[in-house]
Amino acid sequence: MRSFAYQAPHDIETAIAAAAFKPDEKVPTRAGTQYIAGGTNLIDYMKLGVARPERLIDVNQLAEPELRLIEVDAGGLRLGALVRMADAEEHHDIKRDYPVIAESLRLAASGQIRNMASLAGNVLQRTRCEYFRETSWACNKREPGSGCAAMGGVNRQHAVLGVSDACIATYHGDFAQALIALDAIVEAQGGNGRRKIAFADLHRRPGDTPHVETNLAPDELIVAISVPAGPWTRRSRYLKVRDRESYAFALASAAVALDLDGEKVRHARIALGGVATVPWRAREAEQALEGEALDEASAARAADAAFAAAQPHDHNAFKIPLGKQTLVRALLETRDMKV
Ligand code: SF4
Repeated sequence: MRSFAYQAPHDIETAIAAAAFKPDEKVPTRAGTQYIAGGTNLIDYMKLGVARPERLIDVNQLAEPELRLIEVDAGGLRLGALVRMADAEEHHDIKRDYPVIAESLRLAASGQIRNMASLAGNVLQRTRCEYFRETSWACNKREPGSGCAAMGGVNRQHAVLGVSDACIATYHGDFAQALIALDAIVEAQGGNGRRKIAFADLHRRPGDTPHVETNLAPDELIVAISVPAGPWTRRSRYLKVRDRESYAFALASAAVALDLDGEKVRHARIALGGVATVPWRAREAEQALEGEALDEASAARAADAAFAAAQPHDHNAFKIPLGKQTLVRALLETRDMKV
């Protein structure tokens, strides 16, 4: 591992200032700075030589209570950025009112990881593309302009939605699928103050700049994630299909939330995981369902709509039928929930 500077400030303002200035310089310079919380993703990549920060700003000592609060009221859910995955997953009100969030967290990683990882860090995790993780391979995300070894290599785990000619890496997170389905909002604070970002606008599709993964400024720190209440949040679930039932990333997953009028769908909220380059809201599928009676046939039509623009590569075409079947099953199981 390369050497780096380390700071552990005690308040958000100091952390942001630290992210903007090198300790021994008077001019702002944000290159090479990273915030670190649980470290379950970043430390891996530092050991591999993939991430090479010059400075780490450790946010675990930040004293603002809002960073560790879970609040549920009539308006919705607010999650502090430093809440650990396990604490949110076990929260009684989240399990009752937002089961898709609790399930996405429970299925995301091992117990040890969930005890360490923060919610904000989880949504910012980087791809597990094997060519990104191994520095001897060409990778546009790690080394812009170097090429993409996955295109002509083994791409079974890679994305079929939101891909570009520069990168087909899958966004592997689970929690993010629940958040994008439920129209979550991210609160971020930086040198220019605090702002709200629709969760759907947090991540960037790879395009021709796959190394730029989010719309956060380099000094912006996520302080909270909020989820608005809605008539669909209790009837919601997360279904994850993977090679083995423990500690594996999704080959396909679906986050579904439904507001039903009898058998008919008033509103559907759908996101897909394991198949796309970013957290993926399946609006075409939602539109196909609204006003329809939800049964196997209408669910299948929605799944077809969700994958109509899919672009497979040599080894991942199976994700299209698998993703469709995962969505159909998630829709029918969500319909049948007792709420
Ligand atoms: Fe890199 Fe993306 Fe290609 Fe993987 S798919 S090698 S992350 S450019």
